[in-house]
Amino acid sequence: MADKPRECRARVIAVRRLAAEILEADLLMLEPLELAFAAGQWVSVPFGPKTVRVYSIASTPQSPKLLTLCADVAPGGIGSTWFRALAVGDEVRFKGPQGGFVFTRADPRRPLFVAEEIGIVPVRSIVGELYATGFGRPATLAYWARDPGWLVYDAEFLSFARRHPSFAYHPVMASATGPWQDAAGGLAEVVDRIVPDVDGLVAYVCGGERMIHRVRDLLVAKGLDRKAVRWEKFW
Ligand SMILES: Cc1cc2nc3c(=O)[nH]c(=O)nc-3n(C[C@H](O)[C@H](O)[C@H](O)COP(=O)(O)OP(=O)(O)OC[C@H]3O[C@@H](n4cnc5c(N)ncnc54)[C@H](O)[C@@H]3O)c2cc1C
Repeated sequence: MADKPRECRARVIAVRRLAAEILEADLLMLEPLELAFAAGQWVSVPFGPKTVRVYSIASTPQSPKLLTLCADVAPGGIGSTWFRALAVGDEVRFKGPQGGFVFTRADPRRPLFVAEEIGIVPVRSIVGELYATGFGRPATLAYWARDPGWLVYDAEFLSFARRHPSFAYHPVMASATGPWQDAAGGLAEVVDRIVPDVDGLVAYVCGGERMIHRVRDLLVAKGLDRKAVRWEKFW
């Protein structure tokens, strides 16, 4: 069960560059020593009395002592600047866990995950947890990026798909022509093709607002209840 949100301290023990502008940081929990969270939740980093930036937890709840965060630092504001400056040994403070973009295993519906670039972060935690703990039911992921370099967790999902036939993975990359140039067009096109029937479906959509609206409208037009489309808007 997830903890109530609380003030936390952690130490940076590793920073990795996954792509030119995508960084991952491993945080060893200091206080509390373990943070119980649900896959898909996030933490908020304070930058002043009313200013925070929030980051989804990229790792799975199976590792409550060590959290991984992953950020696209291209936006270049205070959150990106903070993330870029993280160095091994730094102590960081944040509040968490928070957020309701979580999939409960008791939900009998088949999940469809749709992610635009860094919007993959909570989905990586949810899918990682499901398959680390023996989820035998079908699940589908459509993951869009502008080019292969931005599809940072592609190898991991390909490996899941090889090992778990019930996991259908659809990486989508922009192409110079056609509807795949942007995430909204590319993901709507792919979701339209891979979801012939919305019966018993629950969708988890994460990324930019434009893509979320486009995919949600498409699924609702196919007959899915609006409430069966869960979304997390990063920007
Ligand atoms: C629930 C939630 C979870 C989030 N989890 C993550 C996460 O795991 N990793 C992560 O990198 N970010 C995540 N974000 C976004 C993050 O909180 C910051 O908005 C982001 O890091 C940019 O902050 P900034 O201060 O650098 O730029 P800001 O000054 O806040 O933003 C500059 C502009 O860029 C836009 N923007 C922000 N992010 C992006 C983006 N990725 N692509 C295009 N435009 C963008 C903003 O809307 C704004 O218009 C999450 C946001 C929410 C609401």
